Amino acid sequence: MYPKMCERYICHLLSILTTYDRQSADVSLQILYIIYTEIYLILIMLSRTFSKFIKRSVSSVRIVEVGPRDGLQNEPKIVPATTKIELINRLSKTGLKNIEATSFVSAKWVPQMGDNAEVLQGIDKVDGISYPVLTPNLKGFESAIAAGAKEVAVFGAASESFTKKNVNCSIAESIERFKSVIDAAKEKNIKVRGYVSTVVGCPYEGKIKPSAVAMVSEKLFTMGCYEISLGDTIGVGTPGTFKEMLKEVLKVAPADKFAVHCHDTYGQALPNILTSLEFDIAVVDASVSGLGGCPYARGASGNAATEDVVYMLHGCGVKTGIDLELLIDAGKFICEELGRQSESKVNRATRKIKPKL
Ligand SMILES: [Zn+2]
Repeated sequence: MYPKMCERYICHLLSILTTYDRQSADVSLQILYIIYTEIYLILIMLSRTFSKFIKRSVSSVRIVEVGPRDGLQNEPKIVPATTKIELINRLSKTGLKNIEATSFVSAKWVPQMGDNAEVLQGIDKVDGISYPVLTPNLKGFESAIAAGAKEVAVFGAASESFTKKNVNCSIAESIERFKSVIDAAKEKNIKVRGYVSTVVGCPYEGKIKPSAVAMVSEKLFTMGCYEISLGDTIGVGTPGTFKEMLKEVLKVAPADKFAVHCHDTYGQALPNILTSLEFDIAVVDASVSGLGGCPYARGASGNAATEDVVYMLHGCGVKTGIDLELLIDAGKFICEELGRQSESKVNRATRKIKPKL
């Protein structure tokens, strides 16, 4: 903005000076003309240099609602399929364009998602809304497709120890598993979203190197993921560690290829999301009423509550296309079903919820 104004100003000065007849004008005017020309050229150079560093501000954000999957998967109470379907149908009316519906994992490992096919087939699918499902392996992918999935997600981590504990293999082996899923998806024209978890910290390894996150992201992009969601799975990140990580990760792909997924364990989810917006990331995962947690990290909170993220973004003049009132109602509904208080401060501030105890 500023360099452009300078450019315009100098152009204006030049247009005045060039109206003089240079033959008849005195020497001092000719010197002035040369000086202004020099300044003009220097400013053009500076404006081109600095424009690279001037932050473009994000004017709209796409929220990916992960409550029905990431949230409910990590709630201790198993919710019936009919309640999940009702939650997703309510969320579909809020203006959300992406609602992660369920996960096609073995019910032995994640009993909360044992009704995946019933949920995916039971929801009212609204035109223009994508209902991705998590498919950790080829078997899960095939079941998801059989149940009508049109978009899937694969889940990796930037930490060796976390991958070992979570999916019982190394990062390299887990990526190999995604390959079969991604290849099968490509054949069927199914979009694949990638998750990279533990992007700033791991419960077993502590701090994660930003280069490890960049490496896993690059591999997933190369294999065919259209978007990578960078997950602070245990919610230990701060704007400081997020900046470090984002600087490295944005070397492998532009900001419009990334989303952020911030858990709120240390109350840093909203600041971390704002920091990501400064890096032009305009896709944010959030969980209605902050449902969820992380079974591999004791005390880890759920995702940033969608209500809080939407309230903050609207307050900053950033569009989401979401009706906050309807979202609050959906949060109230699921919290009543779970018999717990909403983790969303916005929800608590605007509605009184009486949990069924
Ligand atoms: Zn999560």
